[in-house]
Amino acid sequence: MAQRLTDKPELPKGEDQDVGCRTGGTYLRIKQLQDSSSCEIHDRLLRRIHFDVRDLGPWAGFFTFGGRQLSGDDVDHVLIVGAGIGGLAASAVLSRIASQVTLVERAERPTEIGAALALQPNGMAVLDRLGLLPRLLDVGTRIERMDIRSASGAVLATGKMPDLGDELDHAVAVRRTDLHRLLLDAATSSERVQTRFGCTVVSADPAGAVIIKAGADAVTTILPADLVVGADGVGSVVRDTGGFDSRISAGSTYLRSIVPGWPDPLAQEYWTRLGSFGHAALSDHTTYFWAAADAPAVADAVSGRDLTSLIEKWRRVLPVAADLLEKVPSFDDLLVNTVRRVDCRRWFSGHLVLLGDAAHAMAPNLGQGANSALVDAVALAEELVTAPSLMQALARYDQSRRPKTRRVQNAAGLLQRLCRLDQRIAVRARDAFFGGLNRIPRLAEAGIHQALAADVHAVRSASVLAGPRR
Ligand SMILES: Cc1cc2nc3c(=O)[nH]c(=O)nc-3n(C[C@H](O)[C@H](O)[C@H](O)COP(=O)(O)OP(=O)(O)OC[C@H]3O[C@@H](n4cnc5c(N)ncnc54)[C@H](O)[C@@H]3O)c2cc1C
Repeated sequence: MAQRLTDKPELPKGEDQDVGCRTGGTYLRIKQLQDSSSCEIHDRLLRRIHFDVRDLGPWAGFFTFGGRQLSGDDVDHVLIVGAGIGGLAASAVLSRIASQVTLVERAERPTEIGAALALQPNGMAVLDRLGLLPRLLDVGTRIERMDIRSASGAVLATGKMPDLGDELDHAVAVRRTDLHRLLLDAATSSERVQTRFGCTVVSADPAGAVIIKAGADAVTTILPADLVVGADGVGSVVRDTGGFDSRISAGSTYLRSIVPGWPDPLAQEYWTRLGSFGHAALSDHTTYFWAAADAPAVADAVSGRDLTSLIEKWRRVLPVAADLLEKVPSFDDLLVNTVRRVDCRRWFSGHLVLLGDAAHAMAPNLGQGANSALVDAVALAEELVTAPSLMQALARYDQSRRPKTRRVQNAAGLLQRLCRLDQRIAVRARDAFFGGLNRIPRLAEAGIHQALAADVHAVRSASVLAGPRR
């Protein structure tokens, strides 16, 4: 007979028995199997969740997940959802302070798709403190500056990184797969990090647990932890099921690819009536390019997967874009992404916390999404070692990091709106205003250089990365 449990329950031992459990107002039916450690839960939709009580560690016999008291307990076990750039950095950094880190990733073999990206001084500072910068510089290409030009080629502005000392005065273009491999090696080289690849998180509980599905028969398991880090990207399940109050924008489309050839050793971005088109050398013989794809003419070609039409459209507006697109073998070799902005009222909910795109996905125009995710990982770990309790650490992380990244999101969003103007008169006014008065560098100074400097300072002074593991 089912017994309703609303408080710390005694798990019956021995025979199969039905017990009950409240999780945050949801009544669950639990069937405890004969071996006394193996349980099955049937939720209200009668989905079967199988788990082992021993996996619950100190929580065994304490089944009121939603009723767990939140306190400033030590963080022994951290569970990180997502093995992207943010989740891997978090695994590498948090393994220095937690005795166990479980990294859950839905891909069987995690890697990065998305061609390439630019690492800037704040992201580079994190890699530097993790001892990975020399290896990054081996595989990346320095970007000394990026010119922003009108479609006619006139320079509107020159973007340059501020000199933040210790050679952090430039950016580096790197293949995402190379950066991902470096971080994956760093994360998995710690014996404290256990990986569970090929497991999809389907929900997260603010009391500190996730439900995962794995394998061909989608076996469902509950994994508890002192802290769950949602690094699961813009479509974050941790955020969407974990009690976070968030807003996600409609999104804009971008195309990316890596092609052979090196038309220009400088990084350039053109602001045209079809939107922005940029390129940067990745090596002596490869070029990375990116293009906005929201203008109706381009969007038509993209929805029809028509590379020839896409090339024609760009040929009329920006010949260099057409030249690069012609090097793409087929439409399938173009990455097409919808980029959304994510805003959360706060970045923590009970024992859940967000970082990277899950917390603050942004327009790509400042190249700060991944760089900010790297800094988030260090900022979170630093609060965990310095704050008196877990809850205070999460609150401090939220209070210090969220306003900073919001300013970067706003600056990136403003640039995105400016570079996608398509009315001839508005474009002329913009180019005259920004080009003539050279305002973009000042905008960048306010929007990004201060943020970069603050990030680099925070990373350099983080005690969590000093000395041996705790
Ligand atoms: C066109 C473009 C250009 C860009 N250029 C730059 C740039 O130059 N510099 C820069 O810093 N940023 C750039 N960005 C942004 C950058 O790509 C992202 O901000 C960054 O990759 C986010 O990393 P993340 O780890 O937070 O999330 P993601 O990379 O999205 O990783 C999330 C991980 O979680 C996993 N996952 C998701 N859901 C689940 C689940 N339910 N269960 C288990 N695993 C799950 C995913 O498989 C993935 O591995 C650019 C973006 C675009 C679109």
